[in-house]
Amino acid sequence: MSAAYEDRLRAFVGREIHPLRPGQDPVNVPMIRHWVEAMEDDNPIYLDEEAARATGRDGVVAPASMAQAWVMRGYAATAAAKGGGGPADELTDLLAEGGYTSVVATDSEFEFHRELVPGDHVAAREVVESISPEKATALGAGRFITSLRTYHDQDGEIVAVQRWRILRFRPKPKPQKPREPEERPEGTAAERPEERAPRPQPAINRDNAFWFEAARERRLLIQRCAACRTLRHPPGPCCPECGSFEWDTVRASGDAHVYSFVVNHHPRHPAFDYPLIVAVVELAEGTRLITNLVGVTPEEVEIDMPVVLDWVDAGPESSLPVFRPVAQEGQ
Ligand SMILES: [Zn+2]
Repeated sequence: MSAAYEDRLRAFVGREIHPLRPGQDPVNVPMIRHWVEAMEDDNPIYLDEEAARATGRDGVVAPASMAQAWVMRGYAATAAAKGGGGPADELTDLLAEGGYTSVVATDSEFEFHRELVPGDHVAAREVVESISPEKATALGAGRFITSLRTYHDQDGEIVAVQRWRILRFRPKPKPQKPREPEERPEGTAAERPEERAPRPQPAINRDNAFWFEAARERRLLIQRCAACRTLRHPPGPCCPECGSFEWDTVRASGDAHVYSFVVNHHPRHPAFDYPLIVAVVELAEGTRLITNLVGVTPEEVEIDMPVVLDWVDAGPESSLPVFRPVAQEGQ
């Protein structure tokens, strides 16, 4: 990096990149209700006036974690504002000029100064606090951008402070050029293991090691409670039905159907072909597992579609179960 570039970056430290802007709506009970339902937070101080007063408050309060929600603008307004040439865009452009084109949020620390109550109207502004020198990270060389977002009430008093850090990084070159779908040879990643980057390896622990060991031998096991005979997956130390720690296993027949699925387009990992079908399949025995579907296009997949077990080599030491449509069995 040239000294001139460093100077231009440093000029952003202390600069306001988002001016004080009020949220679209004041703090209100309907939004609080949606939030606590989604979070499954049944603390009564958020919705029950009497319970809130019993804690010494004047009435219901908003969950502290909603601070950000009160100043969110929604997708349409955010998309419309993007590229509008404000200081935040200038900083993004300057970082892109340095090759830092990718971004990941790394941490967020909140300080809450007072509880928000219905009727408060929150506004937020954001100032760049620091920009790190270039650091080597697992994702690629990058810079940590720390900004300070202050949340103000209708009287201008600060109600919360958020220190927010992102990593802007230069993505590492891919081990191989991603193929366009039309260039892709016949067959799945499973059938061309020699061309593939290794798959991310599963996190194996004491509770699930038996399952991966069997998978290495291409046997799909299901853990079974030795006390009540309930099957369970993923593997765990204790039966969710009866609490017993005793277990054995049964071998799955390999017959299953698609319970649910998503089609993953991004982000891309070089070990996989895209679009990648990530499915929850329900085994004939009744347990479900997360897996990939092979030998089928996203357009052809249907919920309840019968599928059958197949295997991929996921590295020199591991095999993983995948599923393909029954019609293709034996191909
Ligand atoms: Zn049990």
